[in-house]
Amino acid sequence: MNVIVCIKQVPNTTNVQIDPENGRLKRDGVESTINPFDEYAIEEGVKIKERIGGKVSVVTMGPPQAESALREAVSKGIDEAVLVSDRAFGGADTLATSYTLSLAIKAIGYYDIIICGKQASDGDTAQVGPGIAEMLNIPHIAYVKKIEAVDDKLIRVERMMEDGYDLIESPVPVLLTVVKEINNPRVASLKGKMAAKKAVIKTLDAAAIGADIKKTGLNGSPTQVMKIFTPPKRVGGEKFVGKAQEVAAALVKRLSDIGII
Ligand SMILES: Cc1cc2nc3c(=O)[nH]c(=O)nc-3n(C[C@H](O)[C@H](O)[C@H](O)COP(=O)(O)OP(=O)(O)OC[C@H]3O[C@@H](n4cnc5c(N)ncnc54)[C@H](O)[C@@H]3O)c2cc1C
Repeated sequence: MNVIVCIKQVPNTTNVQIDPENGRLKRDGVESTINPFDEYAIEEGVKIKERIGGKVSVVTMGPPQAESALREAVSKGIDEAVLVSDRAFGGADTLATSYTLSLAIKAIGYYDIIICGKQASDGDTAQVGPGIAEMLNIPHIAYVKKIEAVDDKLIRVERMMEDGYDLIESPVPVLLTVVKEINNPRVASLKGKMAAKKAVIKTLDAAAIGADIKKTGLNGSPTQVMKIFTPPKRVGGEKFVGKAQEVAAALVKRLSDIGII
């Protein structure tokens, strides 16, 4: 069984700052970490390998410093780490990110299960997982909270819903996005930390994955951040007090004055 886990390096803060000039994430001076939901994706990938054997790879698209996130993943039992990095990938929206990651996954080679986190803590769109599945033309199941059964042909999972869960079967290959209810991520062992230090991180650029650079980074992003602002505080509503008939008349007059009726 070949599992590929997608992880994103995100700012280690609840206060994500966006540069108002260009709408991009402010990364300078902010410590980075693995996106919290991706910790569950890593753990589930390693658990599948422990359950039925195989290999687990991890992939991230990001700047060179994203290598530290990959090493951390290796410390938790991942076998192979791939950094997808090129200046041509900068400023990607979710479409361009999905395109680039889908090509990187094809370049890594054979895969049975791709696992993503439910969403990233900075972008927060939850679009990249389903986007990758579409571009690879494979099924996806979002919000997976339990893998009940899996082999090289079929997977059966519980998908979290507001009022319970759906039981879903899908052919393999499949992409899953996982929620935090799925497992308890392990802490890296000493052996894992040693392996992480020594791990050779494979780097793929645009040429290596055969990307059309018109479809990557800013060039391939039909959505752009035009403006970032804090919404103004809501002011309290207008109140009419008095006897019912007077209040109703005052309300009708007010609505009429402002052209609503
Ligand atoms: C309109 C718009 C414009 C944007 N413009 C810019 C910009 O100019 N510059 C900029 O830096 N960012 C920009 N972004 C943010 C950029 O889209 C995201 O960083 C990226 O596409 C991932 O989306 P997300 O954070 O919403 O991830 P989600 O879709 O919420 O992530 C879900 C899962 O997908 C996987 N995943 C997501 N991103 C990666 C990755 N890079 N590598 C590996 N796995 C991943 C992870 O498993 C993650 O848990 C923009 C976003 C939007 C919506």
